[in-house]
Amino acid sequence: MHNGGELATLYCNQEMDTAVKSEVKSTASAGIESCKSELSALSDEIWRNPELGFNEHKAHELLTNFLEKKGFTVERSYTGIETAFRATFGSGRPNVCVICEYDALPEIGHACGHNLIAEAGVAAGLGLKAVLESKEMKGTVTIMGTPDEESKGGKVYLIEKGAFENIDLAMMVHPAPVNELKMAALACVDWKITYTGKAAHAAAFPWEGVNALDAAVMAYTSISALRQQMKPTCRVHGIISNGGAKPNIIPEKTELMYMIRGYKRTETLDLCARVRDCFDSAAIATGCQVKIEEDSKFFEDMNSNDTLAKLFLKNIEELGVLNMVESTGELGSTDMGNVSYIVPSIHPCYAIGSGEVNHTREFTAVTNTPEAHTATLTAAKAMAHTCIDVLTTDGLLEKIKEDFKTQ
Ligand SMILES: [Zn+2]
Ligand SMILES: [Zn+2]
Repeated sequence: MHNGGELATLYCNQEMDTAVKSEVKSTASAGIESCKSELSALSDEIWRNPELGFNEHKAHELLTNFLEKKGFTVERSYTGIETAFRATFGSGRPNVCVICEYDALPEIGHACGHNLIAEAGVAAGLGLKAVLESKEMKGTVTIMGTPDEESKGGKVYLIEKGAFENIDLAMMVHPAPVNELKMAALACVDWKITYTGKAAHAAAFPWEGVNALDAAVMAYTSISALRQQMKPTCRVHGIISNGGAKPNIIPEKTELMYMIRGYKRTETLDLCARVRDCFDSAAIATGCQVKIEEDSKFFEDMNSNDTLAKLFLKNIEELGVLNMVESTGELGSTDMGNVSYIVPSIHPCYAIGSGEVNHTREFTAVTNTPEAHTATLTAAKAMAHTCIDVLTTDGLLEKIKEDFKTQ
């Protein structure tokens, strides 16, 4: 699973003293600042045209055209995934990867601020390009465009296609209500559950029917009862996406969509077994057939790399962000978790707005403001500066890879 065996020191540029290093970081920040208005325009254009996972055609076109114009080597529809892309600049190792997301949510638009994640990834890439050009340093920056974080897990598809081979580390930042260094991301899987019963006239011949809605409701309440006995790190939540056709027909088919989450893979799989029992027992009780299908890739928990996280913290503090907490304890999931088990990774969150939370209409309203763009570029600079530390410090990449092997 891990690929940390390379001789990292071979990749490193000459060790730089602190003064030179801070001058290099200034070059990166200036590179980002010089594109500030183009970057916010790019992000706002994505915000105005929210697209669902694996359908981010407009965002894909905007981002790849922009990066090509800025001198990156761009591969559109990378690995055959239509709305994925890879943009690279530089040569050789280390190869540091910054990640863009750009999918939106149904009905509520960019309520997770992925337009800002795209802006941050592109901005960090531009900052690093400025450094690699002007300082004649060796190394590669890869900007990875990763579709459909919200639903199917686009990064998992990219991993399966080998997109993260030859990458030394990966990072992204995510807008949130607060600054948080290590988001507690749970392992997670999505299920689609279908009950099949038998239709009958609900008043004249109800005894002829087999009620698939009863099965769905029983399963829903069984899971609600199970919730009290679940560990605090477990989450199960679902909806009845099809509850039948008409009140005077005994429902012959119902569908539910559920998400099952746990602290790590094993805890999640244990919980999956208990939830499956709830669905199966409702089928037995009602005489229905049940079919359970996985509706997403399995999202791993987030395995934040300690050394990388500490570097990011130091860099963002130097940029004036002094209220970064280690973890808020609030739980979500991300397909960046899967990346974090392939290469050393971090996924810090940065504050925008004034307390609005992700996946609300209120959050959508703060993901295109001038303040959000400023916070996004600060986080992007912190990513670029962290990569510069890795490019210019002997043994640092080795230490990051050592952490990765032992964490
Ligand atoms: Zn989200
Ligand atoms: Zn998100």
